[in-house]
Amino acid sequence: MAAPKYLKRYFKVRRNEMPALFKITERIPVQFDSGMQLEKLRKIHMQEIEEYRKLRENLELEAANALACTDPSDRLMLLTEVFLELPKASPSLLDLKVAIVDRIMEKCHCCGWRCGVNRKAGEKGFCRLTDFSNYASEFLHMGEEPELVPSHTIFFTGCTFGCIYCQNWDISTCPEDGTLIEPRKLAKLIDLRRMHGARNINFVTPTPHVHTVLKIIREISVNTPVVWNSNMYHSPEIAEILEGVVDVYLGDFKYGNDVCAQKYSKIKNYLEIVQPNFEFAYRTAEILLRHLVLPGHLECCTKPIAEWVAKNIPHIRFNLMFQYRPCYRAMEYPELGRRLTPEEEVRAIDIVKEAGIEYLLI
Ligand code: SF4
Repeated sequence: MAAPKYLKRYFKVRRNEMPALFKITERIPVQFDSGMQLEKLRKIHMQEIEEYRKLRENLELEAANALACTDPSDRLMLLTEVFLELPKASPSLLDLKVAIVDRIMEKCHCCGWRCGVNRKAGEKGFCRLTDFSNYASEFLHMGEEPELVPSHTIFFTGCTFGCIYCQNWDISTCPEDGTLIEPRKLAKLIDLRRMHGARNINFVTPTPHVHTVLKIIREISVNTPVVWNSNMYHSPEIAEILEGVVDVYLGDFKYGNDVCAQKYSKIKNYLEIVQPNFEFAYRTAEILLRHLVLPGHLECCTKPIAEWVAKNIPHIRFNLMFQYRPCYRAMEYPELGRRLTPEEEVRAIDIVKEAGIEYLLI
């Protein structure tokens, strides 16, 4: 069977034929003092990300050369060199990312809400999270997209959206429930799950927990693709931080306009935040986009999303999802109080095909 044309790098990391991006980032040495002003730290980050890009390019070239080698034992030896190329640095670019996010939390602008609260001092913004991170569950998920399973999935509590139809409302609306995360312990579990067959580590609703996610990743020993399973509502500052950390954005694209986003998820500036994040993700990593079709929202949401994707981020994997069912407070909105009709499903497929979406998963 021919190799898929999408998520090419991901498949190589999954097979340990290429280092995950965080494995490159943790090899870039950086000089900084965590007491520096946030802007100074970001300036250093901007310079050092160039070093990361150069190293990534070199390693990918070397890995490609190794994979082109026909002798299996020579191929393995050459790949070993790629993974050994540079020792882990201390402090590294990954440490700098941890320090920057730690400062961002003091006037929180991790997401598009930009609440400005000091979460380290116990203040809470829209997500109602201070600086702790809990997870509701962690397990080998067999129900994600076929290219991801088995996927080591970690469901964080809390959320930056207020979707009235949330299927996980018991987790998203109760940020203080669940198990308190100890980054080293969870990283060890990630190592073990990977050794036991997980194809990736899949962080669900990670944005308000980005500080903890980075600390976990810093402690991971194995080579594993990092999947950012999110609503793509992170701030531009966090988007910069995610370069060199996230291999695959498993990103929801929910709405084709801000009116629907505000009505159903309480988000006023949806497109202004989400579209640039998809574009940045497209330039710096790979994307598996999810679009949950909402009943009655084909022309206002599905259509503009499909057209925008085909124009701006064409070579991505696009998962068109029909599993909407009215959950949580959806019955308060009669138009969302039902499942999709078969006619709507057919129409949604026509829309994405007419838009020219290439790598469609239905
Ligand atoms: S993560 Fe977003 S919603 Fe939560 S406090 Fe920060 S800016 Fe506000």
